[in-house]
Amino acid sequence: MVSANTLCKKLLNVKSAVVEGADFYSDQDGVAHIRIKARPDRRHENDCPFCHRRCKRYDSQSGLPRIWRGLDWGGTLVEVECRTHRIECPVHGVLVADVPWAYLSNGFTKDFDLTVGWLATYLPRSTVSEYMRIDWETVGRCVHRTLNDIEPERSRRLDNLVNIGIDETSYKKGHKYITVIVNHDTNTVVWAAQGHGKGVLTQFYRQLTPQQLSSIRVVTGDGAK
Ligand SMILES: [Zn+2]
Repeated sequence: MVSANTLCKKLLNVKSAVVEGADFYSDQDGVAHIRIKARPDRRHENDCPFCHRRCKRYDSQSGLPRIWRGLDWGGTLVEVECRTHRIECPVHGVLVADVPWAYLSNGFTKDFDLTVGWLATYLPRSTVSEYMRIDWETVGRCVHRTLNDIEPERSRRLDNLVNIGIDETSYKKGHKYITVIVNHDTNTVVWAAQGHGKGVLTQFYRQLTPQQLSSIRVVTGDGAK
């Protein structure tokens, strides 16, 4: 049978980390929590959070414990606790060392962010907020981190456009508009902005490089001027 620490590490779904122990507790609302004490393994304990290179340790001692929220295990809230320290990267300077389970500077694990990001593509934000037990604004922040991880260079969506479509849609009973540009060849949204009409389209075309502009052959519209 596997040890409790190995089981915790498997369920957390993190490589390059060591689980040192776990405790259960209930908060004042009676919600059950499991707090897992973890740390990056020796090979990754001094990694830069930006470039992930191994760096020189800057602090001689570790700081106060930091907590990250992980995906729930059933109805139990999962937390990861780790004492972090700073490293000195020759490129990025003095920074808190990377932890393999989370994106830079936030209190959630990568799996948590990715799950919120996936749910938010199918469900209203209020439903995601209630189900994941996070506030409404946190849903947006999780989505942002997920997007930055999946597609760090969003401007690449504007490369090699050939057949594009312009869709102007109103919401709030016709009081507000949004303009969406789609790539018909990949069936994806490449750009969107609030408003409609010539001004918004000019905004879209102005950000394209001459090379990006030259590849466009067909532009379809939904009856807009
Ligand atoms: Zn670095």
